[in-house]
Amino acid sequence: MGEQGFWHENESYIDTVMNKVNRLAEDTYIFVLQLEQERAWFSETARAYFGIQDTYVADHYEVMQELIHPNDLWEYEDIIPQRKLGKKLDWELCVRMKGVSGEYHMFSVHTDIVTDEKTGEGYLLVLLHNENVLPRIDALTDLYSQARYAADLDAAIARRDPFAVLMVKLERFNNLNIIYGNEFTNQILKETALQFIYMMDENSAVYRLDGPKFGFILKKCDREKLLAFERELRDKLALGICVDNRQIPIKICAGAILIDQYESKADAISSKAAYALGHSEMEHQGRLIIFNDEVCVAKNVDLDLMKVIHQSVRDGCEGFYVEYQPIVVSGTGRIIGAEALVRWRREPYGTVPPGMFIEWMETDPAMYELGNYVLRTALQETVELLSILPEFVVNVNISARQMEREEFREEVLRILEQTAFPADHLCLELTERCRDMPLDMIKREVEFFQGHGIRMAMDDYGTGSASSGIVLYAPMDEIKLDMSFIRGITEDIKKQAMVRSIVEFANSCGMSTCLEGVETEELQNYLRLYQATWFQGYYYSKPLEIRKLRELVQA
Ligand code: C2E
Ligand code: CA
Ligand code: CA
Repeated sequence: MGEQGFWHENESYIDTVMNKVNRLAEDTYIFVLQLEQERAWFSETARAYFGIQDTYVADHYEVMQELIHPNDLWEYEDIIPQRKLGKKLDWELCVRMKGVSGEYHMFSVHTDIVTDEKTGEGYLLVLLHNENVLPRIDALTDLYSQARYAADLDAAIARRDPFAVLMVKLERFNNLNIIYGNEFTNQILKETALQFIYMMDENSAVYRLDGPKFGFILKKCDREKLLAFERELRDKLALGICVDNRQIPIKICAGAILIDQYESKADAISSKAAYALGHSEMEHQGRLIIFNDEVCVAKNVDLDLMKVIHQSVRDGCEGFYVEYQPIVVSGTGRIIGAEALVRWRREPYGTVPPGMFIEWMETDPAMYELGNYVLRTALQETVELLSILPEFVVNVNISARQMEREEFREEVLRILEQTAFPADHLCLELTERCRDMPLDMIKREVEFFQGHGIRMAMDDYGTGSASSGIVLYAPMDEIKLDMSFIRGITEDIKKQAMVRSIVEFANSCGMSTCLEGVETEELQNYLRLYQATWFQGYYYSKPLEIRKLRELVQA
């Protein structure tokens, strides 16, 4: 095919203009088609994106057959001839198209007709717009978006200069949401964002991440500068921001990471900063935590191991399995159920207990898949126990990563249906780690599951500040008392008073109680004084593989 054009005048000028226009239009690709024939002209930008060699193509359908997803091709071939006839159709044509990367994206196809006045020749102008790209500006705050953050982080790494990533989160934001409502808190986010913008210079940029979380990329930044920047930020917000003529003081938690080694990857940097932020919030009253400082290292988080575990989840939960720890009736010691506890085993790491990865995984969206894997496995494996022990209840731990997802409800119901497991023999345990979620949302989810007959338990009750709030607000069926209250209870009158009052509180509200960490016979006998409903602990059994649990139940 020759490179000779099809415009009748000013050939190269038109080409230049069109190519320039296309370079300005982000995520959009232009081509032009003759009305009478199938000959087409492709812009430079379009050729680069789709990997098309020639500017002019004799039969444009031949090119499109390669680029458009086979399932969408018929629609394209149906509609383009109609558009060439000048028909206005009232729906938008969307097709999946493959770029040089080999990945399909959804493109909307926009067309219009132009006619060359001198020759009477007609052309169809076609604009392909990539609909898969994320917006670069956050619609609420006008800050750069999460997508832009990811792109800028890659660029910062490529520059090979030291820089810092700081993540901050507005404290107790969810409570504000409940008290004042969405509109008011949106106003707070906007005003806060404005304060952030005032602080930016040529070496700093601010991004809205998700919810009340913001990110900063600070170029040419060392520890001192980072500390100074964070202090200024905190002081500014402490003065308060003005919303509805009210001065609202804003407190933040903050996590950061300093990058001076160049081999870092963007997602590792982000998850380390997020991890530091989580630590700031949960264990340091919001104080700035810098990853790599002793806090995180002391926690013994083995990041390489976390990467392998993360990948295992993505590979269909490879290496994960579930063990079951019996739960017994307090007065008799008879088994009445079991708690499902996840395990991970892989050489050369051996068996890794959840204490080493659950906290980390809770900061990873992959926790959703892992949690659902545990639920599915637990129901599949224990359903047959119901024929041996009809009262059997299986307890499954649920993480905030699951509860917060809208589709989780349907997923639970689907798993129950697929495993033919009766809903009223399932108990979902919520932990303190759900405290990030707004109380009204927790309440809604709890009520939804109860509406389907599922029992809801508050796990590790009393270990954090949120669990009593959750129990007061959401109608839980059961409270599980953390082991820390049970250990050494015989010598500690404060623990005795705590356990007594919690069990009494639960009893008078119609909630059941389970005491965890019952390790010896003496402890069992002593704890019976408190009239809790169930016991769980090593005295009865360590967590067991399903085969062993079945044997125990049969016995
Ligand atoms: P948890 O929910 O409080 O689970 C009870 C933990 O106490 C288990 O540790 C269990 O093995 C241990 N335990 C039970 N009885 C005794 C006892 O008498 N003495 C002592 N010293 N320990 C006892 P494990 O299996 O290591 O699990 C640790 C935590 O990991 C769990 O605490 C839970 O928060 C989390 N977890 C485990 N599986 C899952 C899961 O599938 N999903 C989620 N979201 N979290 C999980
Ligand atoms: Ca639990
Ligand atoms: Ca527990």
